[in-house]
Amino acid sequence: MKLLTFEDKGILKLGIQTEKGIVDVAATAEKLSVDADTDIMNVIAGGAEATSKLHDLVQKAVADEKVTYVDYESLEWGPCVTKPHKIICVGLNYRKHADETNAPYPEFPILFNKFDNTLTGHKKEIAVPKTTEKLDYEVELGIVIGKKAKYVSEEDALDYVFGYCAANDLSARDLQMRTPQWMLGKIGDDFSPVGPYLVTADEVGNPNDLQLKTIVNGEVRQDSNTSDMIFNCKEIVSYISQYLTLEPGDIILTGTPEGVVLGLPEDKQVYIQPGDVITCEIEKLGSITNYFVEEK
Ligand code: MG
Repeated sequence: MKLLTFEDKGILKLGIQTEKGIVDVAATAEKLSVDADTDIMNVIAGGAEATSKLHDLVQKAVADEKVTYVDYESLEWGPCVTKPHKIICVGLNYRKHADETNAPYPEFPILFNKFDNTLTGHKKEIAVPKTTEKLDYEVELGIVIGKKAKYVSEEDALDYVFGYCAANDLSARDLQMRTPQWMLGKIGDDFSPVGPYLVTADEVGNPNDLQLKTIVNGEVRQDSNTSDMIFNCKEIVSYISQYLTLEPGDIILTGTPEGVVLGLPEDKQVYIQPGDVITCEIEKLGSITNYFVEEK
């Protein structure tokens, strides 16, 4: 199932992408006079039972010709996960990206965090902050946790995953490198576009065999596969769960492959400018595009 959120009169509503279009869950449930969970965070916490109910709702609405669709082109997209307790990121997790930045392969996953002020959606404008000269893109596979996870084994780790999404871990390199802790360069407003869809794990299959790309103003800059990860998805989930409790809705950004601006020779480094259009695309998960503008 491909879940999404969209804005309607200041509220983030739940949508489902079907072959025929995007279903407005709340409006459709109302037409059928049934209750439905219309908050993406509740659906994530509800797991397979919640998605199965949504599936039945859509089937019934299609059969009764009572589906309300919303228009893809005019949709005001929200982030596909709206209120995670945690956003945990893995740094230097692709072999060729570590190579391009002349960094040794880490012995343990390098973890840092972002906050929910960084979340934004497909087609949103993102202001390039005045405080950075070096804003960079990073396409990443996002893991969205579905069940409380503590001390889970690698073997069982993916059973705790609700689904996956495409993300751009925007990174202000000058701020990231100012001190040994990277956080300052990672926490700007709207620095984590996620979506357009949260795709349930059953539709994705193996998360470590997905092509992922970044396209800047029509030019492909990153083009790799999640199989190049140093620590794969099950290792990451298991590892983090040894140290804290992962909860439904928590997002893990799993690192970026080669092709970022930072990895280019210094005379070829052109960082993100107002006017740039950047798309991050992951096989089976879709493409998220954002428009970069000057900060007012
Ligand atoms: Mg990253």
